[in-house]
Amino acid sequence: MPDVGDSEVLVRIAACGVCTMEANLYAGRMPVYPSAAGHEIAGWVERVGEKAAGLEDMPEVGSLVTIDGLPRCGTCRSCRAGQSAICVALQGNVREDGAITMGEGLADYIKVHASRVWSVGDTDPAVAAMGEPLACVVHSLRRGGFRAGDRVTVIGAGYMGHLHLAVTKQLQARSVAVVEQDEQRLAAIAAAGADTAVAPGDIGQLPQADVVFVTIASRESIALALAAVADGGRIVLYGGSDGPPAELPGYEVHRRQLTVTGSFSHEPEDWRAAAELLRGGALNGRLETLVTARYALDEVEKALKQAAETPVYRVVVTP
Ligand SMILES: [Zn+2]
Ligand SMILES: [Zn+2]
Repeated sequence: MPDVGDSEVLVRIAACGVCTMEANLYAGRMPVYPSAAGHEIAGWVERVGEKAAGLEDMPEVGSLVTIDGLPRCGTCRSCRAGQSAICVALQGNVREDGAITMGEGLADYIKVHASRVWSVGDTDPAVAAMGEPLACVVHSLRRGGFRAGDRVTVIGAGYMGHLHLAVTKQLQARSVAVVEQDEQRLAAIAAAGADTAVAPGDIGQLPQADVVFVTIASRESIALALAAVADGGRIVLYGGSDGPPAELPGYEVHRRQLTVTGSFSHEPEDWRAAAELLRGGALNGRLETLVTARYALDEVEKALKQAAETPVYRVVVTP
């Protein structure tokens, strides 16, 4: 049981999503050991440190919160420039027990700085644990200069494609189209409310997009984004890719006045918006359909194995 300092909060973990990072740690593709993993966390507040208790907007004992597991140093060049998503110190502190901190959410309890817990009201903890990926998506929208009324195209109908669809719809996109190769995933995202869902070969049918969100930045999907975006539009490379590097057609970017930008992680203001989306509840029914499986904490290996080896939206561990 962690000791809680004056400005910290103790949370009893209710749910922790298994993301690509945990799947990669488990599969040995990201050899950071021993690590205390699990960064998509929701839980109930058990104790609030003295200095934090009673502050406006501070969650009270018993309330369900979604947790920002990333420490930000506040002093590196990125933090000082207001871009803490790319802080140099995001992960990887070594705890007293020797474990490297990579979220620490696959556990019964966690202590976090009080600035990193966000109330979400009364909802399914597995949905509340989607606060972190939602904050990433809010960040992605911000990086892409998304505004109400925009025509949006999302490349990829995986978990992150679904979240981009859900959030842009909620924030009044004029239309949201999705491009996806896999037929099952295409049908699933059409059923989830995409205005148009097409295979890559049919991309010419889509309205030209003000902003394109690329959820896997492969060579192919960047080419698709260039075909989908309107003149003057924005392309956000949300997902990474370790495939062969894409070519950026300099003349086309210049002549069409395109903006190509990356989006990584999240910042506190993204959490504020993500927590509010969860608290409002409008998305929660849809988010619940993205829970592929739930496992108890003592079945965590099954959860990691499923996420590492099979196509899933979200596998959630619920202690
Ligand atoms: Zn994640
Ligand atoms: Zn920093």
